[in-house]
Amino acid sequence: MSYDTLAGRTALVTGAASGMGEATARKLAAHGVRVALLARRAHRLTELAAKIEGDGGQALVVAADVTDQASVDVAVRQVHAAYGHVDLVVNAAGVMLPNPITHGRTDEWQRMLDTNVAGALRVIRAFTPDLIASAEDGRTADLVNISSIGAHITFPDYAVYGATKAALTYLSQSLRAELGPRDVRVTNIEPGLTSTELGGHIDNAELSGQLAGMFDALTGLSAEDIADLIAYATSRARHVNLRHAVILPTRQA
Ligand code: NDP
Repeated sequence: MSYDTLAGRTALVTGAASGMGEATARKLAAHGVRVALLARRAHRLTELAAKIEGDGGQALVVAADVTDQASVDVAVRQVHAAYGHVDLVVNAAGVMLPNPITHGRTDEWQRMLDTNVAGALRVIRAFTPDLIASAEDGRTADLVNISSIGAHITFPDYAVYGATKAALTYLSQSLRAELGPRDVRVTNIEPGLTSTELGGHIDNAELSGQLAGMFDALTGLSAEDIADLIAYATSRARHVNLRHAVILPTRQA
């Protein structure tokens, strides 16, 4: 089976301004999916939408902040007005802000909890009714959450980030049990080291340097590698749910 089954579907992709979300939006659009692009940086989304449309696809710019319920509410109205129900949701929005726990960076903890856990939940709450309605209409419906290998493997100074990702992995497992019987697939993806903007927000020079060293040593994945996996998972036959995928650079043990 190729990716052809994707054509005609409607997706919402969070974190679409860069990295995995951007690559996923481009990949899905290239296979005939209408994509609603959600992130905070409107100018990045506008550029991406122009590229997708230039390549013959359809895209909608949805500038929104997943940490803000009112902003998500506006986003839902915007998506529904333009596209109606979505049948594919990709939660890629996330932040990674490592620091030793003893630094007590409650600002960073709050941002990660708000974005990686509560933000994903806001999006799930907003669009799960669409997914259920699509499935009831006999269509394929997908919820894809981008967690991290950090949900299972511990990295010093990444405790809070890892905890948010463990929460997301757990949430995916639980939602599968709840939504699977209603024909909504839930796919949890746990990537390893991937070259994106994620590490750019680290404000600890030592940890930034350590991450750069890991990229040198391990040869990270590209955002397109993750997008390819998402396109694969969401284009399977409707009764097939690739529920959990760990995707690592070959050299990352
Ligand atoms: P990027 O930083 O490139 O992408 C993160 C995206 O999230 C950006 O588009 C950003 O756009 C968006 N975002 C951040 N905060 C918010 C917010 N409050 N509201 C809406 N959108 C937001 O990193 P990645 O592509 O790597 O990250 C994608 C996911 O993959 C994340 O959940 C990350 O934790 C996970 N991951 C990444 C790995 C890696 O090695 N890169 C490994 C394992 C998991 P904007 O700033 O415009 O809002």
